[in-house]
Amino acid sequence: MAKRFNWQIGRELEYPYDAPPPKRQVAYIFDTNKCIECQTCTVACKTAWTSGKGQETTFWNNVETKPYGSYPQGWDSKLMDQCGGCQWNQENKLVSLTVFEKNGKGKPPAGHMPTDKDYASPNHGEDDISGMVDQGHHFGGLHPVWMFYLARICNHCDHPSCLAACPRKAIYKRNEDGIVLVDQKRCRGYQECIKACPYKKVFYNIINRASEKCIGCYPRVEEGNVALCVESCIGKIRLHGFLTTDGKPREDNPLDYIVKIRKLALPSYPQFGTGPNVFYIPPVHVPNEFLEQIFGPGVEDAKKLYKALKDDKKLLGAMMLFGASDRILTRFEVQGDEAVGWDVDNKEVARVPFTEPTYYRKHLDPKTSAYRHNTA
Ligand code: SF4
Ligand code: SF4
Ligand code: SF4
Repeated sequence: MAKRFNWQIGRELEYPYDAPPPKRQVAYIFDTNKCIECQTCTVACKTAWTSGKGQETTFWNNVETKPYGSYPQGWDSKLMDQCGGCQWNQENKLVSLTVFEKNGKGKPPAGHMPTDKDYASPNHGEDDISGMVDQGHHFGGLHPVWMFYLARICNHCDHPSCLAACPRKAIYKRNEDGIVLVDQKRCRGYQECIKACPYKKVFYNIINRASEKCIGCYPRVEEGNVALCVESCIGKIRLHGFLTTDGKPREDNPLDYIVKIRKLALPSYPQFGTGPNVFYIPPVHVPNEFLEQIFGPGVEDAKKLYKALKDDKKLLGAMMLFGASDRILTRFEVQGDEAVGWDVDNKEVARVPFTEPTYYRKHLDPKTSAYRHNTA
C-alpha cells in the first residue's frame, strides 16, 4: 500500500499500487453546455477501434442523457448506493471513503459487475427530462425541468482502480503521457478491472476472452494529434491536451489554465478517488444539488465563471480553442482580438478571432459572371 495525494479530494488515500506520476498527464475538457448528443464521437471511436467480433456492446465513447441515462445501466447510481453518500468539509476536502477505502485495508476496490441486461440499451433514458411539465405550462424564460448530455470516455485516472484490481498486472499507466492500457497478452479475462472501474470503462470481449478499454488514441497522441472522438466532435465541446505533472500548472497551457488555475472544469465523481482526467464544465441550467453529486463542490463557482466568460478575455480565449485544431495544443495566448494556439513542435496551429468576421459579397461575381441569389 502506498500513500498518494489526490488533489481532487484534497487529501491522501491508500493506493494498492505504487508508481511515480507520469511526466505529463493526458487530459480532456468537455463543455456540457455545448454537447448536442449527436453521437458522432461515439461512431468515430467505434468505427476506428471496436467494430470487431465480441465488441457489439463495447462503447469506449458513449454519450448519455442525465438524469436518467446511463451506460451500462446504473453504472454510477449502483456504486453510489454501495458507497453511501459522500461528504465534503468546508475546505472542499473529502470526508467520506473512496472506493479504495470502502472495503478496508488490503481489500479490492469497491465496485459492482454489470449484467448482460445493463449492456443491452446504450441509449437507455435518452432525452428523458427530470420530471413532468405541468398542464398549461408555457415557456417563461426558465426551464422547470431539465436534462443534459454527458459524454464519457475512460478517464485515464491518476490512481486507476482498474489497474489496482488486476491480479495479473495486465493493466499499466504509461510514464510518457499517463494513458492507461490493457496488455492483451497478459490479460486472462478475470474481469476484476470491469468490476473495479467506477466509470465502467473497461469492456469484456467474449471472443478474445480479454478485457479491452479506450486506448486514448495513443498512436495519434504520439504524433501530436488529438483523439478521434475529439477531432470528430460536431459541437466543438472538447479540448484534448496534457496537464503539467512535473511542476506548477502553467498559465499558458490551456488545460492547466482551465482546470487547475481557474477551476472552470471539474472531474466527474471525484469522491470515488481514482483522480479522473476528463473534466467537465457543468451545465448552467441544471440544479446544483444534482450537479454536486457528479462534479463535486466546485459547481457553483464554475457556473459563475462560465456565465461571466464574456468579460474574462483570457479564459474565453482558451475556450475558443476547443475544436480549433486537430493538433494537440500545448500553449496558448490571447493576442489582441484573437486566441492563438501552438502544438508540441511550437508551430502555430490555431488562430480564432473573438468576433466572427462578416464578408459582403457582390450580387454579381465578376470572375465567373455568376449571380449570387439568396434563395433561403
Ligand atoms: S460529437 Fe461532440 S457534440 Fe456530438 S455527442 Fe459527441 S461530444 Fe456531444
Ligand atoms: S476510468 Fe476506469 S478504466 Fe479508465 S483508467 Fe479510470 S479506472 Fe481505469
Ligand atoms: S480517445 Fe480514442 S479510443 Fe478513447 S474514446 Fe476517444 S476515440 Fe475512442
